[in-house]
Amino acid sequence: MIVDDEPSILELAQRHLENMGYSNITACLGGQIALEQYQASTNPFDIIISDLNMPEMNGVEFLRHISEADYSGGIILLSAEDERILEVAKDLAKARNLNVLGYVSKPFKRKSLEPLITGYTPHFSVTDNTSDSLLDEITEEELRAGINGDELLVAFQAKTAIATDKVIGVEALARWNHSERGVLPPLTFISLAERCQLIDALTYSIYRKTLSQMRDWLDKDIILEVSVNVSVNSFTSDGFVDFLINTAEEYNVNPEMIILEVTESQLMDNMLECLEKLIQLRMKNFGLSIDDFGTGHSNMTQLKQAPFTELKIDRAFVNGASEDATARSIFESSVNLAKKLHMTTVAEGVETREDMTLVKELGCDQIQGFYKAKPMFADEFEEYIQSVSKA
Ligand code: C2E
Ligand code: MG
Ligand code: MG
Repeated sequence: MIVDDEPSILELAQRHLENMGYSNITACLGGQIALEQYQASTNPFDIIISDLNMPEMNGVEFLRHISEADYSGGIILLSAEDERILEVAKDLAKARNLNVLGYVSKPFKRKSLEPLITGYTPHFSVTDNTSDSLLDEITEEELRAGINGDELLVAFQAKTAIATDKVIGVEALARWNHSERGVLPPLTFISLAERCQLIDALTYSIYRKTLSQMRDWLDKDIILEVSVNVSVNSFTSDGFVDFLINTAEEYNVNPEMIILEVTESQLMDNMLECLEKLIQLRMKNFGLSIDDFGTGHSNMTQLKQAPFTELKIDRAFVNGASEDATARSIFESSVNLAKKLHMTTVAEGVETREDMTLVKELGCDQIQGFYKAKPMFADEFEEYIQSVSKA
């Protein structure tokens, strides 16, 4: 799909693509039309090439919509703006889990477009292995049945201390073992759960399963901190905070070993409403973490106000940051900010040796990423932890 508000650019792009041997091309005059085409299409697009600056719906807005629709193909940005804007737009798109192959400045030439396209093989990772079944949207009833029918599972991803290279904790990540669609990643159901008031039930299920697993590990002398994702609106639900506290007691797990993660973007829109609950949890010694940091818009004052103990830097500013000046500087200033506020820093999405080197250099405390370990179910995780503690 090519999206641009100038017919001449559309024509040019189409010609380049045809000369490169591609035939199945959808050209859209502007973001609004592109979105309609996207929604109407039953076949997924492999690559979307989009202009940024368009009237009505601009490229950034268009990308937000397709990321909300869980688009998992490649994206190429196109713009006449300067490179810095392209860089920032690219970071933003990455932060929204879009797979950005690169950008091309206008007026563009075939030779700048071609390597981006030919270097790309549409890949279907854990997060998009369900793309076919996703064509039928998941319904509220289906999700409710899934949660009530105990179909949720927990995957665990290691958090490793940089100074000692030891696994010190895990993040619990929800999976849905759907009876017909297979194992689904959270991207496909968390926002639905939030929209239809099923998120508390979901968190109850994940939290309980996680603590039960933790109890089992503690009994086997596997001692790990555990991080659980919590949707910010849950804090103000009746009984939610008591549930967190009482369940920890029930499983005899010290809240000092439990970290509650809240995404930065949700937090900043709801800080005042949930501050009291956050303080209450902190007084019980729960750890509190700001997740996906860098994608929201928090300021120093807000961060100082809230009793957070950990800051997780979003993978958009970690993975590939050694070659990306903008991402690197956001990463670096986030680490410095966290240090000033005495928070532990965790770099998410460390995938390569280069990422690892940079994370060490910038003085981050912990890493979580494919470079060390992917999310695994409990049995496999236990084998992993045994293999690394022997090494
Ligand atoms: P998150 O909390 O930021 O979790 C980290 C996500 O990054 C996980 O995706 C993990 O698999 C992925 N990841 C970790 N290392 C790497 C890496 O090196 N490279 C790449 N490309 N990705 C990496 P996952 O499991 O798909 O979860 C996505 C998001 O869904 C989570 O992001 C979290 O916001 C949400 N989520 C997961 N479980 C729950 C839950 O129980 N409750 C709520 N409210 N949200 C959840
Ligand atoms: Mg998280
Ligand atoms: Mg995160």
